[in-house]
Order: sequence, then C-alpha cells, then structure tokens
Amino acid sequence: MDRWIAPGRVNLIGEHTDYNAGFVLPIALSLGVVCAAERTGDGLVRLRSAQRPGEPVEVAVGELAARRATVPRWARYPLGVVHEFVRGGHPVDGLRLAIDGAVPLGAGLSSSAALCCAVTVALRDLCAPTLTPDDLVGIAWAAENGFAGVPTGVLDQSASIRCTAGHALFLDVRAYTAPGGPEPGAAEQIPFDPAAAGLALLVADTGHPHDLADGGYAERRAQCEAAARALDVAALRDVTDTDLPRLADPVLRRRATHVVTENARVVAAADLLRSGADPRTLGALLSASHRSLRTEFEVSAPALDLAVDAALDAGAHGARMVGGGFGGSVLALVDRADTAAVTARIERRFAAAGHARPRIFTVEPAAGARRLR
Ligand code: ADP
Ligand code: MG
Repeated sequence: MDRWIAPGRVNLIGEHTDYNAGFVLPIALSLGVVCAAERTGDGLVRLRSAQRPGEPVEVAVGELAARRATVPRWARYPLGVVHEFVRGGHPVDGLRLAIDGAVPLGAGLSSSAALCCAVTVALRDLCAPTLTPDDLVGIAWAAENGFAGVPTGVLDQSASIRCTAGHALFLDVRAYTAPGGPEPGAAEQIPFDPAAAGLALLVADTGHPHDLADGGYAERRAQCEAAARALDVAALRDVTDTDLPRLADPVLRRRATHVVTENARVVAAADLLRSGADPRTLGALLSASHRSLRTEFEVSAPALDLAVDAALDAGAHGARMVGGGFGGSVLALVDRADTAAVTARIERRFAAAGHARPRIFTVEPAAGARRLR
C-alpha cells in the first residue's frame, strides 16, 4: 500500500483565537500520522490503527452515516473524511486504510487533525486529484466537526495541510475562511529557523490529556460568542481594548480580554519574525500569552503552570501552554545550550509534585501533509 503522512502542529502563539476569526501562527511538527491506503473496489471501508489495536472497523461505503454511532470514537475521524469524499461526489468504491501515528494523543499537538489530514491527502491522491489545499482543509475540518462531532477552529487542519519546513504559518482566519475562498494575504509562510539563531523549541507533553475537558472548550467558545453578541460584533476579532469595559459580565470580559490581547500578540510575533529581529524576543510574547490563558481565559492546569514556571526558572526566554488547555503540552523557547538544563528542571519539578515523568522533545518547523515516497 502507498503511504501518506500528515504532521501534528504546535501553535507558536494565537490560542483560542481561530474560532474568533482572529490570527494564529502555527508550525508543523516532524511527528505525524501515517496512513497507508489503497482502493479495493469492494464497497467496504476497512480501517485499523496501530494505536487502537483491538478496534478494527469494517463499514460499507453506503452505510457510513447510519453506522456513525456504533463505530469506536477514534474511527469517526477517518470515517468522517471518507464520508466527506462520498458527499463531495468523489468515486469512493472501497478502501483499505491502516493508520500509524507518532503524534501523542490528546497532548494538544493535534493528533486528531493529523489523523484526518493524513486520510484526506491519501483520498485526494486515490480518488480526487484535483482538490486544492483549501479543499483539503475544508474536508478535514468538516470530518472532525461533523462526523466526529468534535468542535474545532480551522487552525489545526490548516497547519497540518499548509505548513512548510522552515516556516511558521501566519493565518488571518477571517480572511482565510472568507465565503468566496481565501483572500490574498490570508495565509503567509514566514521564515523561522530557531536553530540558526542558536535556539530550540522545547515541547513538554505533561501527560495530562485534555481529552476529558472537551466541555471546557465548548464553554469557552460559547462565552466568546456571547461576548461578541453583547458587543454587537460578528466575532471578537472586531473588538479592541477600548470596547472591553462595555462588557458588564466579568467572566465574558476576561474571556474577551484574552482574545483581544492574544490577537495583538500574534500580530506582534509575526511582525517580529518578518523583521528578522532576534527571535529570542518572541519569548516575552509567549509568556504573556500563558499568563492571559491562565488568568483571563482560565484554561491552564496545574501541570501546565508547573512546566511553564520550571522552564522560565531554568532560563527559557518564554513558555506557554499550547492547544485547547486543561492539560496537554507546554512550549518553551530556549537557548540550544540550555535544552538539557530546562528539560531536567521540568522533570525534577514534576517528580517533586508527584506527577508522572513528562515527555519532553525539541521541535522544528517541519513540512505539511504529503505522500511518502
Ligand atoms: P489532540 O488532537 O490534541 O491530540 P484530541 O482529543 O483532539 O487531541 O484528539 C485525540 C483523538 O484523536 C484520540 O482520542 C483518538 O480518538 C484520535 N486519534 C488521534 N491519533 C490517532 C491514531 N494514531 N489512531 C487512532 N486514533 C487517533
Ligand atoms: Mg485535536
């Protein structure tokens, strides 16, 4: 079988801004989900994952929607992609799909989007070669939000499909998701080479999955929508700090404060990378993002705060939680020479607090979804 890979992502900055029509700045990881795939012509979808060994699935192409509720949760992501191709009128006449992922599940590194995007690029090449990258993002997004039933913004899928090696991807989500298709300048590849500046990006997967807190994510989205309604704007993207005092509800005001300041931080971070300034100065923006996520948006967790504080104490230029929150991973910007010291400090603090050992690794801006040759 031929194989395709789609990467996980880490967002340098811009958390909980995508569904507020704002700005994000992700990079793709070298860790990805691999999908081996072939057409079988027998009208069945046969699906398995090395990470779900006891749960292979076999469904007739014509019964995808009817069987949705009876298949294991993990299978709804890839089957959702197949469902989108069927809905799009593409010739899906039977498939064998074998998944093997290296993106940790539920770590805030977007294994779910990597899974959907790997299947999406495989099916493009097998059944629908004329689809554009924007079509692919739309399909992977629809699979996760529709068939899998997990609400996400467009950040994860866009990063997995569109990121390129050696770049951060600046997305203006409103312009990117414009009804007539992405507007010019909506997506910009900004060169970013931490290693060349003597820096490393360290990811610490706390091992506290965010999976159980899906309700918290949905609640934050609802609060952002309520704040936008109260301010009579289409999305919090349209709000500036002078509008914030008009929000009488203190919780909604805090949520909106995060989104407004976070959007400004993404724009500042993108400007900084474009200007060729020392990327160490990104650190202050990362740390400010974390403080805002912790105190204004209230989506951090003790293990995340512990990892951030330990990284900063050991000399990181900046650190923050990444992903939806309530668990998952922390990103730290460190001098390469300090990588071991920062790692050791986080591990020591986790041990002292009685947490399991975190998984800590360095990441570099990697390539987006593609066929493996
Ligand atoms: P994240 O995207 O941050 O990793 P999510 O909760 O959004 O966390 O997605 C994790 C879910 O995606 C898993 O619980 C599982 O259902 C599915 N998933 C991701 N990767 C795989 C894989 N390799 N095999 C099977 N299911 C996977
Ligand atoms: Mg996910």
